[in-house]
Amino acid sequence: PFDVLVIGGGPAGASAAIYAARKGIRTGIVAERFGGQVMDTLGIENLIGTKYTEGPKLAASLEEHVKEYDIDIMNLQRAKRLEKKDMIEVELENGAVLKSKTVILSTGARWRNVGVPGEAEFKNKGVAYCPHCDGPLFEGKHVAVIGGGNSGIEAAIDLAGIVKHVTVLEFMPELKADKVLQERLYSLPNVTVIKNAQTKEITGTDKVNGITYIDRETGEEHHIELQGVFVQIGLVPNTEWLEGTVERTRFGEIIVDKHGATSLPGVFAAGDCTDSAYKQIIISMGSGATAALGAFDYLIRN
Ligand code: FAD
Repeated sequence: PFDVLVIGGGPAGASAAIYAARKGIRTGIVAERFGGQVMDTLGIENLIGTKYTEGPKLAASLEEHVKEYDIDIMNLQRAKRLEKKDMIEVELENGAVLKSKTVILSTGARWRNVGVPGEAEFKNKGVAYCPHCDGPLFEGKHVAVIGGGNSGIEAAIDLAGIVKHVTVLEFMPELKADKVLQERLYSLPNVTVIKNAQTKEITGTDKVNGITYIDRETGEEHHIELQGVFVQIGLVPNTEWLEGTVERTRFGEIIVDKHGATSLPGVFAAGDCTDSAYKQIIISMGSGATAALGAFDYLIRN
């Protein structure tokens, strides 16, 4: 059996596995796709200490770093069930059952897509999901934010300070964001809010050049010329498979304490799959380290 079994091979999982292995304890890591969301990222400019890198390059160096240690890597394997018996058991899609004294969950999250033509085609070519990451790339340009919930309005306020103009497209007749955020948004001179707007298509040639939406009240179609579209309709944690095991928020985020411990003794969690305040690479790596040290502490006490 393992001492520490990490589920998920993104920045959180890689960090957790390295921190665990450095304690000289038996460590394994299971990943559906090593690298995680980083594999879908082009330029990364906010991993402090590294001025610029690219997703696939960072993923490769994470893997290289993990391989420096005696860590059992099980890539292209998906976990489907977790159960606590005398040990913690994790069953994989392929039927294998792994046993470990502690488990660190780091299965990350996925951005909800709008699912319109152009979204997938122009990903990283004007279609973006993370204002903290990609906002500065649109300096002086006109962008749209799809989604009028808290994350959409926070993104719009953030972007308004960087870009020339922000158009918010909300599907419903009202914005769902907190009132204070809405007030702040409406106080800004370079923001337009369009409600009842159903996004139809993100247009472009080699990169985004506009967005088409339908006014749900009139049925009329409109086109706006712009250079960027931020999709902000939700970040979904990859925790469906944990139903009934560890405690989660109503959004499905695993609830952790400051040691990364979940509600199930011996099970820890880190990164975007948790209820951490912000979802970033550097934050995931930090919480991966925390969870590994938390798991080690647990092991020496039990
Ligand atoms: P993830 O990276 O999501 O990794 C999750 C891991 O778990 C993957 O290996 C996945 O395959 C695996 N997994 C999931 N389910 C299972 C399962 N059931 N069984 C086994 N394995 C499973 N952040 C920044 O700081 N700077 C940026 O510039 C930046 N740009 C971004 C651009 C894009 C397009 C996206 C999508 C995100 C960006 N982010 C950026 C956010 C950053 O990528 C995430 O915060 C970070 O990757 C989270 O790390 P994680 O390890 O928690 O999860």
